[in-house]
Amino acid sequence: MSAVREVVLVGGGHTHIQTLRSFAQKPPENSKISVIVDVPLAVYSGMVPGFISGQYSKEEIVIDVCRLAQRANARLVIARVVRIDPENQKIFLENNEEISYDVASFDIGSTVAGLEVSGVKEYAVPTRPIGKLCHQIEEVIEKESHGNIQDSVSILVVGGGAGGVELSFTLENRFASLGFPTDVTVIEKSEELLLGYSASIRKRILSHVKRRGISIKRNLEVCEVLEDSVVLNNGQNLDFDLLIWVTGPWGQMVFKESGLATDRRGFVLTRSTLQFEEYDNLFGVGDCATLAEAPSTPKAGVYAVRQGPYLTHNLYNWLEGSPLKNYHPQGDFLTLMNLGNGSAVGGKWGRSFEGRWAMKLKDRIDRKFVANFI
Ligand SMILES: Cc1cc2nc3c(=O)[nH]c(=O)nc-3n(C[C@H](O)[C@H](O)[C@H](O)COP(=O)(O)OP(=O)(O)OC[C@H]3O[C@@H](n4cnc5c(N)ncnc54)[C@H](O)[C@@H]3O)c2cc1C
Repeated sequence: MSAVREVVLVGGGHTHIQTLRSFAQKPPENSKISVIVDVPLAVYSGMVPGFISGQYSKEEIVIDVCRLAQRANARLVIARVVRIDPENQKIFLENNEEISYDVASFDIGSTVAGLEVSGVKEYAVPTRPIGKLCHQIEEVIEKESHGNIQDSVSILVVGGGAGGVELSFTLENRFASLGFPTDVTVIEKSEELLLGYSASIRKRILSHVKRRGISIKRNLEVCEVLEDSVVLNNGQNLDFDLLIWVTGPWGQMVFKESGLATDRRGFVLTRSTLQFEEYDNLFGVGDCATLAEAPSTPKAGVYAVRQGPYLTHNLYNWLEGSPLKNYHPQGDFLTLMNLGNGSAVGGKWGRSFEGRWAMKLKDRIDRKFVANFI
C-alpha cells in the first residue's frame, strides 16, 4: 500500500464546502484531510443583503465548516494562513505553526480594494471579511435603534458595483423599517453604477435608486476617511453615521508574499485544471484565483460554485495519478439583486426583469444552496 498523502484545504469558501461534502461521501484513498479556516462559520454572501434588510437571521446565512470537516473525517485547524513554501510543501499559519502537504487547495476569497486609504481601517466598515461586516452592521443597527428616531441616519456607500447597490437598498430599507429617516449616498469613481452589467439592468436599478431617494456621486473618489466624515478628491467633505467600503475585490497578501505568480491585484494565477501556474500540487479556486486563460472573469460566487465539481474531480484524480478536467468559465450568469423591499432586479444575456417573483426566485436559489450543507 502506498504512503498516506496529506491533503490540505485552505478556506471554507463556496468551492471547498462542496469538496468536503464529496470527501464525506467518498473518502479519498490513502489520504489524510486537513481543513484550515480563519473562522469556522462561512457566511453565504448572496444572502448577506437579505440579512441586512432583516429578511434572514444570522443562522440562516451561515455554513458550519467545522461540521462539514467532521463529516469528512478531516482535521480542522482554525488559523489564518499567511504564507506558502511550495518548494518544501509547507503552509505557515499566523500563530507560527506550519502544516505540511502533498496536495493543497486554496479557496480563501478576497479582500477589498483601497484599504490603504487613510482612515479606512479605523472608521469604515469593509465588506470583507464578510462575517465581520454582518457583525459590524448589527452593532450599528443596535446603536442607532437606541438613538433619537427624529435624527436622520447618514449612510455612505463607497463603490457602486453590485455589492454597493444591494447594500444601499437593503440598508435604506432596514433603517426605514426601524422608523429612521435615512440618507443614503453612493460614491462611485467612474461615470456609471454597475460597470460591466447590461444597460437594461442599469436602467432598472437607476429608476429604483431615484424612487428610493438614494443619491449618487459619480466620478469621485474618497481620499481620506475621518472619524465621521470623508474627504473627496474634489475637496468636498461628506458626513456619515455609517460608512460601507465596497470598492471591489482585491487579492490577499498570502500569494504575493510567497513569491507565487499573481495578477495585478494579487490573485494567484491558475491553469484551467485549477492548478497554480507553477505547481501541480497546488490548486486555487473562487475569488482568490484568476484563470490565466480568462483573466477578466468576474469575482462572483457563482463561478466559485461552478468550480466545485471540477476541483473535487481533479483532487481525486491527482491523488490517483489520473488525468485532470479543464474548467472553462461560463460567458454570463444570472444576476439577481435584492432591493431590500421584497423585490429584486435580475438579468442575463443583456435582458432584465424585476418584481417580487424575482426576489422569491433568488430566495429559493440561495436557500437551496445553503441547505445542501446543513
Ligand atoms: C455584499 C456582497 C454580496 C454578494 N452577493 C453575491 C451574489 O449574490 N452572487 C454572487 O455570485 N456573488 C456575490 N458576491 C461575491 C461573492 O461574495 C464572492 O464572489 C464569493 O464569496 C467568493 O467565494 P469564495 O469561495 O472565493 O470565497 P469566500 O466565500 O469569501 O470564502 C473564503 C473562505 O476562506 C476563509 N479565509 C479567508 N482568508 C483565509 C486565510 N488567510 N486563511 C484561512 N482561511 C481564510 C474565509 O473565512 C472563508 O471561509 C457578493 C459579495 C458581497 C460583498
